[in-house]
Amino acid sequence: MPSLPITILFAAALLGGLLVKFWLATRQMRHVAAHRGAVPAAFAATVSLAAHQRAADYTLAKGRLGLLSTAFGTAVVLGWTLLGGLDLLNTWLLATVQPAWGNMGYQLALLVGFTLVSTLLDLPFELYSTFRLEQRFGFNRTTPKLFIADLLKNTLVGALIGLPLAALVLWIMGATGGLWWLWAWGAWVGFNLLIMVVYPTLIAPIFNKFEPLADEGLKARVQALMQRCGFAAKGLFVMDGSRRSAHGNAYFTGLGAAKRVVFYDTLLAKLNPGEVEAVLAHELGHFKHRHITQRIVMVFGISLAALALLGWLAQQPGFYTGLGVLPNIGPNAGAPNDALALLLFMLALPVFSFFVSPLAAQLSRQHEFQADAYACAQASGADLASALLKLHEDNAATLTPDPVYVRFYYSHPPASERLAALALRSA
Ligand SMILES: [Zn+2]
Repeated sequence: MPSLPITILFAAALLGGLLVKFWLATRQMRHVAAHRGAVPAAFAATVSLAAHQRAADYTLAKGRLGLLSTAFGTAVVLGWTLLGGLDLLNTWLLATVQPAWGNMGYQLALLVGFTLVSTLLDLPFELYSTFRLEQRFGFNRTTPKLFIADLLKNTLVGALIGLPLAALVLWIMGATGGLWWLWAWGAWVGFNLLIMVVYPTLIAPIFNKFEPLADEGLKARVQALMQRCGFAAKGLFVMDGSRRSAHGNAYFTGLGAAKRVVFYDTLLAKLNPGEVEAVLAHELGHFKHRHITQRIVMVFGISLAALALLGWLAQQPGFYTGLGVLPNIGPNAGAPNDALALLLFMLALPVFSFFVSPLAAQLSRQHEFQADAYACAQASGADLASALLKLHEDNAATLTPDPVYVRFYYSHPPASERLAALALRSA
């Protein structure tokens, strides 16, 4: 496969993606700014002008930061690929690490080096977002000390889990021949299932405290709801989400009988028991409609297709040279190309998959409507509506998003659509 068509296709997708992202973001910002002056009629009785304008300002501030990070992210991808960043890192590690640590050491060093540089490049945006943007709107609860502790813990957990997995995948790529991608997929699926099992009890507690739900009244209500819905969980827990952020949430984790329900303390502080019950009923709706299982199956299916594609691409010299890297052939022969292929694929895939992301968003919004409908049947629709509105206001989410932006990005339908659907059901 010649390299020039690959370079042209990649550059066109990267540039096209950048233009579409900018077009969408500026549409959203213009739309929100244009509607900043007045609360939409449907919310006039329930949302104050001050809250509406705070949401508009938050959306605009996030939008401006988003433009900057989109432009920077595109430059970084270009830097790694066509401008030769990955090639430079690879050449250097081939000369320094490979002779001393061998092929596996060199390949792991390449993955680690790439990850470290990427994390460092992202850091300014994360710092600005946490300590400036979220701080300005009163959401941030993360102290600099906690930020550093999180960074260290993330690195440590990432290394403990990521390095053995990477070594296993690289070994499979080198040792199992032409169908390596099938074996690698098996390892990937097994690894993900294992993480789903151990995450709630082993990994999540490294970052947060989990305490059994103590409020007896709420507990009884929630248990009655779960019984009504035929749902078995190992326990109800409250998580100290307030350590990091004022944003509230509730979720399920775990697989099979190890499932647990986790409420953020910030959610319990904001909602009354009826509203908490309705939010939980919505989450149960996702389970009853098998949305979670569907999503897992879909992700596994897509990763199989992606790995098969990588299995083919990794054989094509044009895949490497077309994306700005000299593979380990000719003068570099002897070292494997597997880590290089993985990294190039990780860099290139999102450039193309961005264009199909509206399909995933569309499916997700459908699921939200289904879960809302389930919640209406099992709990109070009015409670769900008031909970949604409170969470919207507390998260300063805009009530007037741009419709095209919504189609592309929103995993949840806008509040106006969700509340209208709920009102229809309750009527
Ligand atoms: Zn949902």
